[in-house]
Amino acid sequence: MLDRSIQELESGSLARIASADTAEELETIRVELLGRKGGALVEISKGMGKLAAEERARIGKLLNGAKQKLEGALDARLQEFSAVSLARKLDAEWVDLTLPAPGPRRGHLHPITRIQQEIEDLFVSLGFAVLDGPEVETEDHNFDALNIPATHPARDAQDTFWLDGGDLLRTHTSPVQVRGMRSLGPPLRMIAPGRVFRNESVDASHEHTFYQLEGMMIDREVSVAHLIYFMKTMLTAIFQREVSVRLRPGFFPFVEPGFELDIQCLICGGTGCQVCKQSGWVEQLGCGLVHPNVLRLSGIDPDEWNGFAFGLGLTRLVMMRYGIDDIRWLQSGDLRFLEQF
Ligand SMILES: [Zn+2]
Repeated sequence: MLDRSIQELESGSLARIASADTAEELETIRVELLGRKGGALVEISKGMGKLAAEERARIGKLLNGAKQKLEGALDARLQEFSAVSLARKLDAEWVDLTLPAPGPRRGHLHPITRIQQEIEDLFVSLGFAVLDGPEVETEDHNFDALNIPATHPARDAQDTFWLDGGDLLRTHTSPVQVRGMRSLGPPLRMIAPGRVFRNESVDASHEHTFYQLEGMMIDREVSVAHLIYFMKTMLTAIFQREVSVRLRPGFFPFVEPGFELDIQCLICGGTGCQVCKQSGWVEQLGCGLVHPNVLRLSGIDPDEWNGFAFGLGLTRLVMMRYGIDDIRWLQSGDLRFLEQF
């Protein structure tokens, strides 16, 4: 009678242990079977008192055997659970403490910044200072001191962002020339790269915000030959090959004489193509000898000093060098565009 109870309890319990899903379930089974108060094995052993001594010993052995088996099965199953949950935890929370902390994603310089730094390095090696100026300028620095009269179309509200109080967003980097002449005086060799603003309607070749680089050299007896030398040196460095240049007369209020400087087309070598519109030449920058009025307005005596100045569009240069056909890409912040450089 007791034999059967023990056997049934044993086989039934082993099956329950095998199909238990959680450690909590196992603990419930353990209490039900092995608990000192009301555990199934204890209840069975209570019936042993009525048995003969021999029989009692035999049943006692059976009970002990069943107890050990069940304990063993419970422990083994419990270990399986903890091994699985540990593996799962390790998998989910795996961390290699020897790895460097994940920082922000590494980027690179914008193509405009890159070309700007190249030109800065070149001019520094030629003894020029790199000057900076504010983007919000006075009317004097941006126009008057550069010999740009009040009647000049550049001063129209259509072309310039005017601010309350009469200041404006600078329309070119030339006001930095004025600041350089006034603060440093002659002799002066300076360049001024920076951001400029025009009140433009935006399309593939026009932006309200773009980049220029301005340069100026003031000394005694500076000639157009000096100007051509520095421009050729700069353009050869930018395009990394020998370039031929030519000057055409051009009007800018702050220089006299003023020139448009063209380079011989780098695509066709001067024989004529689409890029140079079959002329063999590509317009590159504006330049000239500094107008005596501009010197005078910044406190420099034009009888003693003269100089040259030039200004070029960094944005356009970048577009030419990398073959970018829409100016709006440059300020778009679109990583798909920027990651190509
Ligand atoms: Zn060409």
